[in-house]
Amino acid sequence: MRRLLFSTSGFCILPLLAIFSGACLAQAPVPEPVTDQETELGQAVYKQLRDKVEIIESSTLYDSLKPVADAITRVAQSRYPHPFKFFLVHEAQPNAFATPGGNVYVVDSLLYFVKNTEQLAGTLCHEVSHTIHRDGIALMEKEKKIEEREVAAAILLGPTRAHMIAIALIGKLHSLGYSRDAESKADVTGSDICAEAGYNPWGLPWLFQDFQNADVSQIPQLLSDHPANGTRIQTLEKHFRDNPSTFSKFNRDPKSATPFSAPKDASVVFLRTDAKEGK
Ligand SMILES: [Zn+2]
Repeated sequence: MRRLLFSTSGFCILPLLAIFSGACLAQAPVPEPVTDQETELGQAVYKQLRDKVEIIESSTLYDSLKPVADAITRVAQSRYPHPFKFFLVHEAQPNAFATPGGNVYVVDSLLYFVKNTEQLAGTLCHEVSHTIHRDGIALMEKEKKIEEREVAAAILLGPTRAHMIAIALIGKLHSLGYSRDAESKADVTGSDICAEAGYNPWGLPWLFQDFQNADVSQIPQLLSDHPANGTRIQTLEKHFRDNPSTFSKFNRDPKSATPFSAPKDASVVFLRTDAKEGK
């Protein structure tokens, strides 16, 4: 299993960062102004993550993420009214999650976990599909009450309602609140999007298979809680068989994959609360 490594960069050498950061670090996108409930909820989550100093503002890692994110956005954007934006976040476990409003968060270590571009694309396609299906909103609507500790945390922070919901939503996204049915539907829509974007949609089944062989502690949270991975693979295989005009051209052999490797020595600059909007 690959490991997350940070060391001195051969390209963006750390002492030069202050001078050349604009030139050698790709930038995180700036979120849209709030326009509706979904966007508001997405913005509230963004602010939570920013306050926790988890959002990576700039890093050469964006250079690895951006081409894949852009290709997927070109296909997926027509299915969702708010702009998709991809942010790198730093957390311990490889993961990715999407919030209402179009923001997609990719944990930096996921870039080191995936073996090929197809696996990364499959994960991103899956996440944008949750947003397109409005699974995050549905999750919140289903929730009868916000857990007591989350309310307590929210009160401490002097929340707006959206702020409070955001705390709960982060909890839910991290604790895998989605049903297996919602997961499989996101897999299927995600495979359609990936195929249209030109990424071999077998990437997601390959990722599931890798998880089945992986050390449990290394399994990304987004999938570790799904003993139904086998079922999800079967659902995708059936979808591929039932739609040969779209899927038969793709090679199911992982040996055909495009190897993906993020720069091991990438330096990162975190977005800080006082950097934007003041506080
Ligand atoms: Zn999911």
